[in-house]
Amino acid sequence: MAKVAFIGLGVMGYPMAGHLVKAGHEVKVYNRTQAKAEAWVAQHGGSFGKTPAEAAIDAEIVFVCVGNDQDLYQVTIEAEGALAGMKSGAVLVDHTTASAEAARKLAEVCNSQGYGFIDAPVSGGQAGAENGVLSVMCGGEAATYEKVAPVIDAYAKSQRLLGAAGAGQLAKMMNQICIAGLVQGLAEAIHFGQQAGMDVAEVIDVIQHGAAGSWQMVNRHKTMIEDHYDYGFAVDWMRKDLDIVLSEARRNGARLPVTAIVDQFYAEVQAMGGNRWDTSSLLKVLQKASS
Ligand code: NAP
Repeated sequence: MAKVAFIGLGVMGYPMAGHLVKAGHEVKVYNRTQAKAEAWVAQHGGSFGKTPAEAAIDAEIVFVCVGNDQDLYQVTIEAEGALAGMKSGAVLVDHTTASAEAARKLAEVCNSQGYGFIDAPVSGGQAGAENGVLSVMCGGEAATYEKVAPVIDAYAKSQRLLGAAGAGQLAKMMNQICIAGLVQGLAEAIHFGQQAGMDVAEVIDVIQHGAAGSWQMVNRHKTMIEDHYDYGFAVDWMRKDLDIVLSEARRNGARLPVTAIVDQFYAEVQAMGGNRWDTSSLLKVLQKASS
């Protein structure tokens, strides 16, 4: 069993760190808002540090799951960040959805200071984190990945090393590109059915088993029909991810016409006050336009 640190006890990090305890690892946590770290220790045992550096002392693996690139730099390479406390040979595993550029930069800094680095963004949402069934997309060196993979297993249904540092983040971008188009397609089908006077739930009950079926269709159609949008991944987070995707596409020359326009539809959701609504709220934009 390993001695590990977990930095960032948000919607995702809190349950992920809990699974590490359940798998028998010794876990020290850090959270910017200390009350959350105290609550986590009260629930799971272990201990907490007052800074990321303090949490990282003695850990063989330091996991991070914070918001964006800037947050990631703050808790790793800036003052009192994890790297200031890590011991030689320890590995930093980053579960934040961040840019590939940030992953490459962190890999370089870690390697130059005698640490390993794996970028490991996740998919599966809050439920996936709580149930320990996340998909984990990894980038980095094979020998480093082999050290951390058995520990990541505590909250993963599937995980794989997909290339050098940054490859995990690029894979997560492909994941978000798929989701953007899928959710817009589902929203348009529901909107069309409602305009046509169909029993949309009945129709989806039939078509979800055919070629149009998807995770989004199975898990979100009922709540979309009921006009409920508080089921997981928030629009603000999705726009952060699509910004990363579209910046990378500008660099690598990929054409993403649908992703770019769906990003604008999410901007409209934000303008409607839907920053914290879940990503299936694209339906609201269509309904507003035809009301
Ligand atoms: P969250 O609930 O907002 O939690 C973010 C965590 O990061 C909190 O612990 C927060 O601390 C900490 N944090 C943020 N900025 C920080 C900073 N500058 N310094 C120190 N700590 C900082 O977010 P989440 O939903 O867990 O998401 C975390 C990451 O996973 C994001 O990159 C997100 O895109 C990705 N992700 C999320 C989902 C999902 O369904 N939620 C699914 C897949 C991937 P405080 O408690 O002090 O605010």
